[in-house]
Amino acid sequence: MLTLKGIAAAPGIKIGPAYRIGREEYIVPIQSITQEEIPLQIQLFEEALIQTRKEIIELQKRISTDMGQDEAQIFDAHLLVLEDRMLIEEVISRLKKEHLSVAYIFSEVLKKYIDVFSKIEDEYLKERMSDINDVGRRILRNLLGKEHKSLGDIKEKVVIVAHDISPSDTASMYKQNVCAFVTDIGGKTSHTAIMAKSLEIPAVVGVQNATASIKMNDILIVDGSMGMIIVNPDEDTLLNYQKEEEILKGLSDKLLVDKDLPAVTQDGESVEIIANIEFPDEVPSVKLHGAQGIGLYRTEFFYMNRKDLPTEEEHFQAYKYVAEEMKPYPVIIRTIDIGGDKFLSQFDIPKEMQPFMGWRAIRFCLARPDLFKLQLRAILRASVYGKLKMMYPMISGIEELKQANVILEQCKKELKEKRVPFDDDIEVGVMIEVPSAALIADLLAKEADFFSIGTNDLIQYALAVDRTNEKVAYLYEPAHPAVLRMIKNVIDSAHANNIKVGMCGEMASDEIFVWILLGMGLDEFSMPSLAVPSIKYLVRSITAKEAKEIAKEALSLPTPKEVELFMQAKLKALKR
Ligand code: PEP
Ligand code: MG
Repeated sequence: MLTLKGIAAAPGIKIGPAYRIGREEYIVPIQSITQEEIPLQIQLFEEALIQTRKEIIELQKRISTDMGQDEAQIFDAHLLVLEDRMLIEEVISRLKKEHLSVAYIFSEVLKKYIDVFSKIEDEYLKERMSDINDVGRRILRNLLGKEHKSLGDIKEKVVIVAHDISPSDTASMYKQNVCAFVTDIGGKTSHTAIMAKSLEIPAVVGVQNATASIKMNDILIVDGSMGMIIVNPDEDTLLNYQKEEEILKGLSDKLLVDKDLPAVTQDGESVEIIANIEFPDEVPSVKLHGAQGIGLYRTEFFYMNRKDLPTEEEHFQAYKYVAEEMKPYPVIIRTIDIGGDKFLSQFDIPKEMQPFMGWRAIRFCLARPDLFKLQLRAILRASVYGKLKMMYPMISGIEELKQANVILEQCKKELKEKRVPFDDDIEVGVMIEVPSAALIADLLAKEADFFSIGTNDLIQYALAVDRTNEKVAYLYEPAHPAVLRMIKNVIDSAHANNIKVGMCGEMASDEIFVWILLGMGLDEFSMPSLAVPSIKYLVRSITAKEAKEIAKEALSLPTPKEVELFMQAKLKALKR
């Protein structure tokens, strides 16, 4: 039995045999050809390109119907790879010179391309590597005349194990016999992780040694919530997880039945349990899971998978759709938060030593008022179609907030002049995700309509732990007394100034913390849709009075471990 740790990319527990896919397909035997065979080899290459194009267009159509335009757009980049003259010409010229089979030459050229791209530091170009990899594998399959090894051919539920999984492979897992997947590389914000969450396939990425340690048909327990894989578990562990899987399944079915019950404590205090989204297409899942609003709409995903910039009209249409669909519930649009680990090729952002502490989020927006205004105008215009609110990410001080609001006022003025309707009273909130903001929450509360605590960042900055670095992941502790005290200070400061405070970082959907946060007085918990029913249930399982006592006790404990043990014991006592 072996336990591997990785990054929790999509939640849930699944058990199944490993099914390895990937790199082996590049091993193509070296084979000489004669001068006369060259035209035939060129023809084979052309046919493989045409066949690959057909496959991608079919896949694109299917994804567009099943999942929507945004997901299907990823394949535009794949089609462009097929038209890459440099790649095609290199294959043909080497074929003529070297007299080796086109499959072999192509596999060599592909390896070279992948090698070059993997060394480039630009995140966008790195993403393109997975496009080239993906298309390259398809071309190679067609060149070798192999049957397309489709995930649809897999007859039993398997766990896919790969060095990397491309967005197109992830998308083709939709409605197939794939119960989970595991990869050596990747991060929470990769297209692959985003897709996995929206397809509700548990996934652990960034495991580093997954393909080195897992063989075909090894039995795997994938815990996508904990970011953990157990390889060939012993009987007890397997039984425990099977039970856990069953319990979770039963629990989530049961919870879905009650999904529309309000999140009210047993003594009548209600809180909001709402959802985080990245794409408008997620709205049906938000409703399905009983979230009564959207507490974080991460709009920067709008800029991904495209080479151009979205227009104001595109922003507007997306926000209008979400506002209308969610009406009468609130939708909080976060203004773009690029930088950190979210790079967009359309902007000329230089590589920084400390990108999370660099030119990011509101700092970027204040430096590019043209782009910022475009988004603000779109939000304002959409505000008449539902209950829209907005918030700024990464505010570190009062002046930044005031500067952002000056730009917002300019937008309002422009719209008024043009007689474009908008909600003049739109609520403007501040994300509390920088320790300085948490410490001056009393001052910020006088300038903001609401707070939303972004614990994903707040924890990394407070504890000096890069949220994307696996080597220091053991120090990334939401239960750290410093974090709990900061949160308490933010909530108290908000309430002292009569504003509401939510939390949209992952901590809000971590069962360990729900009662503590409830007891501290958090008004709103925003999370991935999937988590909504279980968190609602936890809120309904306790009185506000008990939660207050729990929070008080948790705040008095000196170490994260003690807080966790204390809460685990409390949760265990809950009969589900
Ligand atoms: C956060 O930092 O907690 C947050 C919600 O924002 P993001 O994860 O997008 O940085
Ligand atoms: Mg953040």
